[in-house]
Amino acid sequence: GLDAAAGWNFDNSYSRLPESYYSRIEPTPVRSPRLLVLNEPLAESLGLNAGALRQEGQTAALAGNRIPEGAAPLAQAYGGHQFGHFNRLGDGRAILMGEQRTPSGERFDIQWKGSGPTPYSRRGDGRAALGPMLREYIVSEAMHGLGIPTTRSLAVVATGEIVHRETELPGAVLTRVASSHLRVGTFQYLMAWGTPEDVRTLADYAIRRHYPDAADEANPYLAFLERVVRSQARLIAQWQLVGFIHGVMNTDNMAIGGETIDYGPCAFMDAYDPATVFSSIDVQGRYAYGNQPPIGGWNLARFAETLLPLLHPDMDRAVALAEETLSDYPELYLQRYLAGMRAKLGLFGAEERDESLIKDLLDLMQEHGADYTNTFRSLTLHGTAQGSPLAESPAFADWQRRWEERGALGAPSPEASRELMRGSNPAVIARNHRVEEALEAAGCGDLGVMERLLAALQDPFAYSASQEEYAELPPEPELPYQTFCGT
Ligand code: AMP
Ligand code: MG
Ligand code: MG
Repeated sequence: GLDAAAGWNFDNSYSRLPESYYSRIEPTPVRSPRLLVLNEPLAESLGLNAGALRQEGQTAALAGNRIPEGAAPLAQAYGGHQFGHFNRLGDGRAILMGEQRTPSGERFDIQWKGSGPTPYSRRGDGRAALGPMLREYIVSEAMHGLGIPTTRSLAVVATGEIVHRETELPGAVLTRVASSHLRVGTFQYLMAWGTPEDVRTLADYAIRRHYPDAADEANPYLAFLERVVRSQARLIAQWQLVGFIHGVMNTDNMAIGGETIDYGPCAFMDAYDPATVFSSIDVQGRYAYGNQPPIGGWNLARFAETLLPLLHPDMDRAVALAEETLSDYPELYLQRYLAGMRAKLGLFGAEERDESLIKDLLDLMQEHGADYTNTFRSLTLHGTAQGSPLAESPAFADWQRRWEERGALGAPSPEASRELMRGSNPAVIARNHRVEEALEAAGCGDLGVMERLLAALQDPFAYSASQEEYAELPPEPELPYQTFCGT
């Protein structure tokens, strides 16, 4: 049929798991779907025909007005620690369409987000506003461009309906693509409200889907835990290296497959400051930039708790095994982070002094309010802190001498160092003010601002002329705020 011609090719393994893990539910149709943005390269890599997706019947499917052939819609149950407090949650405004098998044999969840109420919606309306869905689209694609594991965005469809928040906002449905939507919170849900056998079934499923080689180890569940710990250490190191602040690192927002998931109040840091928080509800700074690595460890401990009965029949032994595995996390994280920082500074080899070299630069940035991304960009382009408040600092001049001296060690050539830096320091990030500008223009019907931003973010290491404008810092708050709808 038409859906097969469009490339839909579902095999819905999650829907074959026990019924208590989810609820079968279909999206609630929307009034007048209009495709606003379609990720053509992603569509093609999924085996979907981008031209077909632009046609009315497929736009209807992306809006949730029609269920594509072979889909098996369901909302997943999960729990989670939200700001430290455990709650029963689930897909309250998302519905899994099904799992798309790609031409290369990979499996991806295709999910509607903003598709109407589910049994897990609690008091929510199951809907999403256009701004936040476009924001997720932009920032997740920016992360992908940076080479950071992430859920991706296939499309955003305007619904032609209003959602009621503090104000009335236009509604939208995002199509999210993920290697799976298994979360730490999925395991927590089954530990709290399922049976021990349910946790085992889910663990076996997650191993098959994400870490199949763990099944061959002497203790597959311990090997599974080790791999999840490793993938989170790597992911969070990548976040830190680009200055990404997730904003809501609740355990339901930590994916077992190691992808960044749930783009809510996330943002890239401008001036370097470990205390930076973007979420207005995070008054304690629990999810501040500098807290992300230890919070990752805390979340992994919650995950390990769910696996204890699987790790060893003797509970004391199980706890010891879990603790031993969790204790590797800080070092795994640190080694990833240091390796990434050395690359950002163009350093070859590893020296004892590197840690203090890195820390001293960050301290100087913080002291002088220097922009995180642009400092590394300037070091990459000019070998100096040109254009930064650091340029005037004698302490920075000392640091620069130390850096140059260290940089010469082990480097095949100065060119090799510069190449390393260019591949490690983005010329452009999804700066908040540019994202907001794009969303505002889109809200007024002008999608061009967003399209140009997305194009610049596709290869953030290109250092092309068209990326230069995106290195500009946000305007001073006193300056009149630019709007795009006219007055
Ligand atoms: P989040 O903060 O995005 O991780 O969401 C936490 C929980 O709230 C999840 O279970 C979501 O499905 C649910 N949720 C968020 N927004 C809505 C909404 N508008 N309607 C129903 N549930 C929602
Ligand atoms: Mg969430
Ligand atoms: Mg969210």
